[in-house]
Amino acid sequence: MTYENVKIHPAVDGGVKKGRADFAGGTLHCNCASERVEVKVAAQTAHNHVCGCTKCWKPEGAIFSQVAVVGRDALSVTANGHKLKIVNEAAPIQRYACSGCGAHMYGRIENTGHPFYGLDFVHTELSDQDGWSEPQFAAFVSSVIESGVEPSRMGDIRARLKELGLEPYDALSPPLMDAIATHVAKQSGALKA
Ligand SMILES: [Zn+2]
Ligand SMILES: [Zn+2]
Repeated sequence: MTYENVKIHPAVDGGVKKGRADFAGGTLHCNCASERVEVKVAAQTAHNHVCGCTKCWKPEGAIFSQVAVVGRDALSVTANGHKLKIVNEAAPIQRYACSGCGAHMYGRIENTGHPFYGLDFVHTELSDQDGWSEPQFAAFVSSVIESGVEPSRMGDIRARLKELGLEPYDALSPPLMDAIATHVAKQSGALKA
C-alpha cells in the first residue's frame, strides 16, 4: 500500500527532486501578478526540509511548508523591497512577507546569540530554477495538528513522509537539535567554547 493520496507539499507530492551539486543559487520572486518582490540568493541552500509548524509560510492548501537556510550574506532583495513587511517583529525569526500576496520572501535572525544567527530562511519553491537542495527530512510533524489537521491522520502522514524519504521528527532533525544544544552548552559554559 502506498500513501500517494496523502498531500504534504506540492514540491514533494510527486516525489522528491534531487538538487544539483553544482547549483550556485538563483532568484526567488513573490506570487503577485505584477511588481513582484525579487530576492537574489547567491549560493546553494542547506538543510532544506518540510516543516509542520504554524509559523512557516505554506502555499494554499499545503499542510507543510518547505524551508531551507542560506548564509545571510548571500541574500539580497533586488526588486520591490518596499512591499515587504515583517510578520512579527517579536519573533526570533523575522519573516519578511510580501504585503501583496503574503508569500514569505525570507526569514532573518537579528539576535547574535541565537544558534542559527547568520542564516536566513528561504522557500526555494518561489524560484523558477531547478537545482536547489532537496528536502531531506520533516520537522515539527506533530505541529500540523495545531493548524487543524485531524490527529487520526497522523499515521498516514508519517507513513507518506517515510515513503518520500523524509524522516519525520517532532522537532528539528538530530544534527540540528545537536547544533542548538552545543550552542547553548557553550554559552552556559557546560562545554568549552
Ligand atoms: Zn507579492
Ligand atoms: Zn516551520
